Amino acid sequence: MRHLTLASVLLTSMAVTTPAIADGHLMIVDEPLELTIHMHHKRYPSYNEDWPVEQEARRLTNIHLKNATVGSNTDNSGEAINLLLASGKLPDIIGTSRIKDVVNQYGPQGAFMPLNDLIEEHAPHLKAFFEKRPDIKAAISAADGNMYYIPYLPDGKYGRAYFIRYDWLDKLGLDLPQNVDEVKAVLEAFRDGDPNGNGLKDEVPYFARQWEELIRLVTLWDGRSSGSDTYHDFYVDSGQIKHPYAGEGYRDGIKNLTEWYAEGLIDPEVFTRGSSAREYLLSENLGGMTHDWFASTSGYNRLSSEIGGFVFKAFAPPASISGKRIEEHRRIPIKPDGWAIGGTNKHPVETIKYFDFWFSPEGRNIVNFGVEGVHWTMEDGKAIFTDAILGTGRPVNSQLYELGAQLHARGYFQDYGYEIQWSNEFALEGIALYDEGDYLIDQFLGVAFNKDEQAVYDKYWPSVRTYMLERQQAWILGTGDVEADWDAYMADLDKMGLNDVLAAMQSAYNRQYGG
Ligand code: CA
Repeated sequence: MRHLTLASVLLTSMAVTTPAIADGHLMIVDEPLELTIHMHHKRYPSYNEDWPVEQEARRLTNIHLKNATVGSNTDNSGEAINLLLASGKLPDIIGTSRIKDVVNQYGPQGAFMPLNDLIEEHAPHLKAFFEKRPDIKAAISAADGNMYYIPYLPDGKYGRAYFIRYDWLDKLGLDLPQNVDEVKAVLEAFRDGDPNGNGLKDEVPYFARQWEELIRLVTLWDGRSSGSDTYHDFYVDSGQIKHPYAGEGYRDGIKNLTEWYAEGLIDPEVFTRGSSAREYLLSENLGGMTHDWFASTSGYNRLSSEIGGFVFKAFAPPASISGKRIEEHRRIPIKPDGWAIGGTNKHPVETIKYFDFWFSPEGRNIVNFGVEGVHWTMEDGKAIFTDAILGTGRPVNSQLYELGAQLHARGYFQDYGYEIQWSNEFALEGIALYDEGDYLIDQFLGVAFNKDEQAVYDKYWPSVRTYMLERQQAWILGTGDVEADWDAYMADLDKMGLNDVLAAMQSAYNRQYGG
């Protein structure tokens, strides 16, 4: 029980200095304190007290989290949080995916604790973080100006990129496509030139695991498909909230993509093939080009051992019709996932100190990499995974979830160093290419509605969105003609309330970001 005596000494001196004494300076309480937690995410529908990361946090802080998750029999976190709220009794800590809207709605009513003053007085690492990132503080603040949750904050900028079969280009005597016309020419050559060499016209020139990555191509006609890392999201254009699917570039993009689809340049099963599309079309030597994540897509170069010459690498975003090269997708710096303090928590100070622990250098390493000396060791000031993680041949992120690390239903700041250690050379080469070209664009970080705005959004948005997506798919599949239908479509959107939704979002946006 050496910790306890040491901790009590340290607690009195902590305000003055930050003693660098192992196993002591992170202690939050003298005696172990149990806090209850609801933690729900589709990958872990309850909190596991045996997670090595929980055990390590207990050892270092004396705070013990006790599982009190409601709805663990469903993998739907939204259902689980609704069950929890309906029970009328919240645990000390609530961590879940998509917690943002829940806390912004019920926090001001008292169900969750406002965090601003607690952070100011008791959480030096969180305070320092938000002072450095006022944009993130604005993005997670509710309509009443308070923060009600600590988010999961992804690190690293790059997400998806354009990928193409370099060996097919070589075989057909083609260069990397530099603009939208050259992309079309390359896809036609993939369709007609039998680059897989089996004598069959079986190539699938453009494919996507998520069909939304087909819609993404409207950016080649200066349209937009989303303003954030969430598909179909709103975007900000010079301070104005707009929706991508009501723009002329989108209309022109859909017109062209409809032609590409009809001409066999797009996977005919793009809307139905689903998440196995990449695995299937690459391993069967059929797929030519896609838009997908750097790390996992680069990993397919392992197929070169089975498919002679196979090279599937990122290439720079092709120039649009007006000459702009953009990569619309990037990692968002802040997710709507994270954790919050229940409104009836009797230990708010200890709880915010516990939240702060995960933003300390020590806590941040644990939440990102696991337990020091077991899953990683410190080398030149950096946490480097041991063979216990890298030697298994299993996906690193899956292993980390099993340890209780990298849990998105916990508020923490990711360290990209965790991912770079298992990104292959092709991914790193692609990221360097995108970095050099500076292709990323600004993102819409979302708004927090007040009651009236929320009511407008809830009343109109779901049906507007459904209608947009129905029309989008119908046009691509050849039903209707986007150019001929456009004016009527825009009139329908107005009648259905799109402009009311945009006005509500604009008012929330102006309040939140001082527009
Ligand atoms: Ca062929």
